[in-house]
Amino acid sequence: MVANPTLLFPHNTERTARSGPAVSEKLLAVENVSLEYRTRERIVRATHDVSFDVFGGDRFVLLGPSGCGKSTLLKAVGGFIEPASGTISLDGQIVRGPGADRIVVFQEFDQLPPWKTVLQNVAFPLRVAKKLSRAEANERALHYLEKVGLAAFANAYPHTLSGGMKQRVAIARALAMQPRVLLMDEPFAALDALTRRKMQEELLRLWEEVNFTLLFVTHSIEEALVVGNRILLLSPHPGRVRAELNSHQYSQDSFGRSDFQRSVARIHHLLFDETEAVQ
Ligand code: ADP
Ligand code: MG
Repeated sequence: MVANPTLLFPHNTERTARSGPAVSEKLLAVENVSLEYRTRERIVRATHDVSFDVFGGDRFVLLGPSGCGKSTLLKAVGGFIEPASGTISLDGQIVRGPGADRIVVFQEFDQLPPWKTVLQNVAFPLRVAKKLSRAEANERALHYLEKVGLAAFANAYPHTLSGGMKQRVAIARALAMQPRVLLMDEPFAALDALTRRKMQEELLRLWEEVNFTLLFVTHSIEEALVVGNRILLLSPHPGRVRAELNSHQYSQDSFGRSDFQRSVARIHHLLFDETEAVQ
């Protein structure tokens, strides 16, 4: 365990190599957060004393092995779980429950109600949570469906779409809500390897086109390096902060490069080798 997260890569003055939204003020603050599940028999501690800050325009990744509490952390940021200790605040306000300022995209392909068309899926939350008229909601929904390349499928039903297309709809639906932070929980983990790479690339393109701040969960080191500009490494169960690092220098093109492979190996050691992390 490390008391102070190690910075693996030196901070550049330029925080984002890509030409996306300018990185701005602190948006989300997670301070000394421990999360627990209380079952009848015992208390399961999912994360222990986790702290991190997400700034506007960040692509912040929570990376750690299965069971280290990534989903639980995301649920807590989403306002679905209350911290056992510590605080989570968004724009300086303590998070006390779910809200339209934090929208989650999940891994599962069944997150879209099957009885609604693609357009209705994206438009419905806009009418309910944003109180838009039908015309306004449809217009905005279509705009975001265009962004993910699915305008032609507006009237299709989810079961007629591939897994990748369903995830695109879920992303369009989330972005259409224009949340302060977009939360993604292993959104590409159930896709085949090629589609997964394509979706990572599309997500980065979307991030450049649409201004949004991302909190992204993955257990894949490669995905974390490609998707993130900052990565928080979490130790195995219960999740504690192992290190925080900058990864804005990597993109899809980095996969074969030796510096990328060195970073993968380094992170692997940090995640699984106690001795190196303590140094
Ligand atoms: P990750 O997303 O990193 O794989 P999770 O956040 O899902 O990890 O889980 C963290 C820990 O909390 C795990 O040990 C898991 O078994 C436990 N856990 C998750 N959900 C529950 C639950 N509903 N009740 C009890 N324990 C849970
Ligand atoms: Mg999970």
